[in-house]
Order: sequence, then C-alpha cells, then structure tokens
Amino acid sequence: TAAAPLLSVRGLEAWYGESHVLHGIDFDVAPGEVVTLLGRNGAGKTTTLKSIIGIMGKRKGSIKLEGKETIALPSRAIARLGIGFVPEERGIYASLNVEENLMLPPQVKPGGLSLEQIFELFPNLKERLKSQGTKLSGGEQQMLAIGRILRTGANLLLLDEPTEGLAPVIIEQIGRTISKLKREGFTIILVEQNFRFAATVADRHYVVEQGKVIDMIPNQELDQNIDKLHSYLGV
Ligand code: ATP
Repeated sequence: TAAAPLLSVRGLEAWYGESHVLHGIDFDVAPGEVVTLLGRNGAGKTTTLKSIIGIMGKRKGSIKLEGKETIALPSRAIARLGIGFVPEERGIYASLNVEENLMLPPQVKPGGLSLEQIFELFPNLKERLKSQGTKLSGGEQQMLAIGRILRTGANLLLLDEPTEGLAPVIIEQIGRTISKLKREGFTIILVEQNFRFAATVADRHYVVEQGKVIDMIPNQELDQNIDKLHSYLGV
C-alpha cells in the first residue's frame, strides 16, 4: 500500500480580490517524493504554492499536512509545521551578506541543517560567505535561497521555478542538489516551465491549467506522453 500522503490538496480555490484564479486544485505528495506542477504562464502554479503556505487572502477547500487541516491557519502556524517556500524572485536581502542571509529565517522545527551541512551541499556559498546578496550570481542566489530554508527545519520544500534564468551548468547543479535533498528525505514540490529539467529530478508531474489539475504523469511515462505534454504547455 502507498504511504499516506504528506500533503493532500482537495478542491482548492483561491482569489486575488474579486478575481477567482484557482477553481478546484487536487493533488497529493507522498513523503520523500519530488513532484512538479507544470503548466503555462498564468495557469495557477505559483498561486497554489502561495495557498499552501497560507499567504493568499481568500482560499477555500482542503490542504492537509500529515492529515492535519491547514486551510484556515495563519501562515506562521503553517510554517511551524515544516513548510519552506523559495519564491521565484528568491528573496535574497541585498544589503546582507551570505552568512547574514543564512542566519535570518527563524527555526520552525528541530532538525534544521547546520551552516556546515549547507556548505557541503553548496560549497560556493562558503567561498562567498562575506559577499553581499547583490554581488551574487543568479545561481548563487538560488543556492542561498534554498540553503536558507534548509536551516529552518522545514521538511517540505516548495521551490518556484528554481532554474529560471540560469545557465545550463548551474541548472545541472541545482538538479543534483534537489536529487540529494530527496535522498536525504526531503519532500519537494517544484513549479517548473522547463519540463526537461523537471524530468531529471521528479517522480511525478501534475499539469495545471486554468486553476485546475487536469492530468498527472508519472516520470517514467513521460516519454510516451510527450505529445500530450507539448499540447498542455503550448510548446
Ligand atoms: P507564472 O509562471 O506566470 O507565474 P503561474 O501558473 O504560476 O504562472 P499564477 O502566478 O499562479 O500562475 O497566476 C494565476 C492567475 O492569477 C493569473 O491569471 C495571474 O494573472 C493572476 N495573478 C497572479 N498574481 C496576481 C496578483 N498579485 N493579483 C491579481 N492577479 C494575480
């Protein structure tokens, strides 16, 4: 029998003011799994992540973490359950150096990685310890943004387009890091436009279209579904 889901989303709806953008999102993530949310621009992927961490003003439906309903909880309480979010813009503080950026987010749960463990994953960050956020390359900023949430003790990581704008060699490094985090037991939801990258790291792919999950493709069945996926993504 399959493991009970770590995260279970059912009938999720969300609004920006009067604008209704999620119309019933359904998906599950098992402990230790890497899943992607794929879909065109504006499909609702980022809004789904924002709903999970509790920062959408109006949302309804059900979002259960280890069976506990979180839909009505404030974002601080949700963070304490062990969810970490890396936004598309990465959120690095420009006036703080790498070390200060790493130290900033509070621990939400025991079991967060030490600075040394973070530097094992991202050796570049150790070399750049005293560099200001603004002086980092896009890849270094992405590594810092991921490293920073690993300190908090979060075990469910939500990564919004981590490869966007990065060179292929850096994308490969991010991919190896995600695979390593998976081996260490982290559960990861990845929003991606780049499904070639997604295929190198994910177990399953959920396709989001117009505020709904319209399909799920296991990674090992990606090849036989490639035409369907192209039409979903409009590529
Ligand atoms: P993208 O890759 O473009 O971010 P996405 O699938 O993540 O795509 P969302 O960002 O979740 O899509 O956007 C879903 C819908 O909500 C879109 O129609 C978008 O225009 C709208 N939207 C997103 N952010 C806001 C906002 N702050 N205020 C109003 N509408 C928004």
